[in-house]
Parts: sequence; C-alpha cells; structure tokens
Amino acid sequence: MIRHHPSETTLAAYAAGSLPSALSTVAALHLARCPVCRRSLATLEATGGAVLDELTPVPLSGDALSRLLDRVDEPAPAPPPILNPDLPAPLNRMVLGRWWPIGLGARYRPMRAGDGAWGGLVLAQPNRSLPRHGHAGLELTCILSGRFADGSGEYGPGDLSEPVVDHDRPPLVIGTEPCLCVIASEGMKLRGLLGLAQRTIGY
Ligand SMILES: [Zn+2]
Repeated sequence: MIRHHPSETTLAAYAAGSLPSALSTVAALHLARCPVCRRSLATLEATGGAVLDELTPVPLSGDALSRLLDRVDEPAPAPPPILNPDLPAPLNRMVLGRWWPIGLGARYRPMRAGDGAWGGLVLAQPNRSLPRHGHAGLELTCILSGRFADGSGEYGPGDLSEPVVDHDRPPLVIGTEPCLCVIASEGMKLRGLLGLAQRTIGY
C-alpha cells in the first residue's frame, strides 16, 4: 500500500516535462505503482490540453503540412536497449555506473543523467542509515524494496519521499530486508562517503 506521494507542484512539473531526467525517472517509478497519482497526472494532462486548445492559432509556413506528412512515414526512433533487466522501467534502460561502497552496509550506484540533477540507486542493509545530506533543491526518493523510516514517517515499496526540510535524522532502514531505493536531487549537499563518491565519480 502506497502512503507517500509527490507534491502537486512536482506532479505538475512532471506532467509539463520540466523535471530534470533523474528526478523524472524517480517520479515515473512511483507513478508506475501508484494509481492515485496516475489519475492526478491524467487530470493535469487534460488541463494542459485544454490550455493548448485556447491558444490563438498562428499561421504556418506554406510547406509545413508537406514536411509534417513526410515525417509521418519516418519510422519511430527505437527505444534505448534494456541494460538492466533486473530493474523496473525506466531504470532498466538507463546507463548506470558500478556500485560504490558508501560506508558500513550501504552502497551507491550512480545513474548518468547530466541535465541539472543527479541520482542513483542506494542499497542499505537493515539498521543502517541512508547517507546524511542537506537539501538545496528538489529531492525525490522512491523505494523499490525494503523499508525506511525518518522523522516524517515510514516508507515502503512504491512510496515517494519528497522532503521539504532537512531530515532531522537520516532515514534508517527498518525491518529485516535491505532497502533498495532510487534517489535524485537538484542540489543535494552530500556529506561523508556518499559526498566523496559523488564528487569523485562526477555525475
Ligand atoms: Zn502517488
């Protein structure tokens, strides 16, 4: 059961396609599992379509229609190959780095995003904390398996964490299963080993 969702602002940015790709990937992972947010997204997209309908038309150049018709016959671009069959879409088609140890019982595997946000997988063992960090922009985390708890509540598979203030304590893995989550941020200030890994890897 999913209990934690993205904010309306974040969902609207996702619908508008204005989230950097790493953050959009994390939101998509939540949406794939959350019928509540999929319904909200459909409403937002319908609203966006209505706004487009109200725009004043502008004249097109004379050959616009023939150029469009030429493109109709072009084959659709092939999707990127599946690189990580063990991970859910859209992570399965992303270029991921190798696993980096980031302290006792925790590992980090960066994704190559490179457009204003960074992100990656974090795997932490039971009773271990996720890396300490401070926020300087939008940060999203989606849990793929296992559970963690922080000052704002407990999070399980499919839940999306979008902290509005710095964590008063770092998320702690609870239960007996390791916690695998995907984290992305516009400007997280990482501390400790994950900060070192982020600066060393450079993406
Ligand atoms: Zn949701």
